Amino acid sequence: MTSTKYIFVTGGVTSSLGKGIISASLAKLLQARGFSVTIQKFDPYINVDPGTLNPYEHGECYVTDDGAETDLDLGHYERFLNVPTSQANNVTTGRIYYNVIKKEREGEFLGKTVQVVPHITDEIKNSIYKLGNTDQYDFVITELGGCVGDIESLPFIEAVRQARFELGPTNALSIHLTLIPYLSAAGELKTKPTQHSVKQLLEAGVQPDILVCRTEKKLPMDLRKKIALFCNVPHNCVIEAMDAPTIYDVPLLMRKEKLDERVLARMKFSYKKEPGLEHWKEFLGKLKNPTDEIRIAVVGKYVELQDAYKSISESFVHAGAHNECKVNVTWISSEKIDESNAETLLAKMHGVLVAPGFGERGIEGKIHSIKYVRENDVPFFGICLGMQCATIEFARNVLKLEGAHSKEMNPETKHPIIDLMEDQKNLIEMGGTMRLGAYECQLTKGTKAHATYGQTKISERHRHRYEFNNKYLDEFEKHGMIASGKNPKTGLVEVVELKDHRWFVGSQFHPELKSTVLNPHPLFVKFVKAAMQYKADKTSDNS
Ligand code: GLN
Repeated sequence: MTSTKYIFVTGGVTSSLGKGIISASLAKLLQARGFSVTIQKFDPYINVDPGTLNPYEHGECYVTDDGAETDLDLGHYERFLNVPTSQANNVTTGRIYYNVIKKEREGEFLGKTVQVVPHITDEIKNSIYKLGNTDQYDFVITELGGCVGDIESLPFIEAVRQARFELGPTNALSIHLTLIPYLSAAGELKTKPTQHSVKQLLEAGVQPDILVCRTEKKLPMDLRKKIALFCNVPHNCVIEAMDAPTIYDVPLLMRKEKLDERVLARMKFSYKKEPGLEHWKEFLGKLKNPTDEIRIAVVGKYVELQDAYKSISESFVHAGAHNECKVNVTWISSEKIDESNAETLLAKMHGVLVAPGFGERGIEGKIHSIKYVRENDVPFFGICLGMQCATIEFARNVLKLEGAHSKEMNPETKHPIIDLMEDQKNLIEMGGTMRLGAYECQLTKGTKAHATYGQTKISERHRHRYEFNNKYLDEFEKHGMIASGKNPKTGLVEVVELKDHRWFVGSQFHPELKSTVLNPHPLFVKFVKAAMQYKADKTSDNS
């Protein structure tokens, strides 16, 4: 066994209480005290990973450097901690069973009956200990998706019970996130759902050490004492988690409630008085005191559900704070945009981002939006499918290649500007087979992309099947759309930009997956800057 300490975060009463943000905030506080921390998420569904899930089902699919398609909470972990995660940080029931069944087929269980306990629970524990065994981390925080009491969460809770027993009380700790609802008719905060939720945990053999209570109103001491008495926790371990104006306030709220100190005391650490949160506070200061304000349209097809574009909206928060500018994002459904209304819908915007996506729906709306911003010198940023659409628009309207398209949308197109690579053509399995994860990219000196990054070699994360068709590249470059970034090994186009435009950049990769509080992504920072400049120029034109 290593000296790594393990923290388990469960949730009760209802889902969506923000276990991911609480876990990330605790991790941030521990990191700010000099500890190395990683966070792991268990998802109780049977999909092997969320890569095959529709964003409406589960929000954005977050991709790590090693090409894992993961839960969007991993995005929060990276944005808060500024440390990359990997496949080991997100494990689903599907993956656990997949591994166990594979071992069974390989004869690894030597004729034994394979059962939920011990085989599934062992596999769950292995994936917990695997992170700790690397000796890389002082703390591994494991967040259990779903709610205590869900049938599908049972094996995970049982694994936590066993792990706590095996590790001992100073090496393992359990935090339960719960809800204290406010009944306005009675004018009271109610603790009963929390008592029931803790009872359910106790039935499964897990005594929580700390309760984090989501609440709309302040939690008075008498209520904390009542919760403490009924749930067997010291009253100073009943932590209030009030609704916050931004998720980035939560580490400071948890600090005020001394969540980090309770954890460290319980795990027998001596600790200094204050964690070093200067950078974090500086970021919050800028976020809350903007000196400018812009309007950005995000054109996409899953706009009704903002979780579908979580990393993009957070990247705007980071880039906005960096520029001391409030970025007001208007989400526009690409299906609602056509040739006649693109101008009306976009005229008031200072920048337009065309979002990633899959499939035909809404594609023409994206292309019309791009035509408008290209012709009107409005700052544009296209990500993945957004970049592909920018090349299709250019092919149709500048190169006059009629019917130009992506083979994804029209397999019969005469001008396949976006096409499948040979290695993608004969694939049958859909899960985990796209171009996924980090790839190197070489930027051309003298381009906007190069000026933005300030270096020629970058690495960015991908998640797509289709690519720009290099047969058309010469023609594109002759007419002003250049490939400013290419994969040095394959020559695939990774960044395009327009020479004669104030800011028109498309990336085949997903920069939003690498933007963090500490390192706002340069492409977002520059796009926001370009939009601020556009606004300033417009204002002076009109005065
Ligand atoms: N559908 C496109 C492809 O597979 C783009 C994917 C994306 O935007 N993530 O290539």
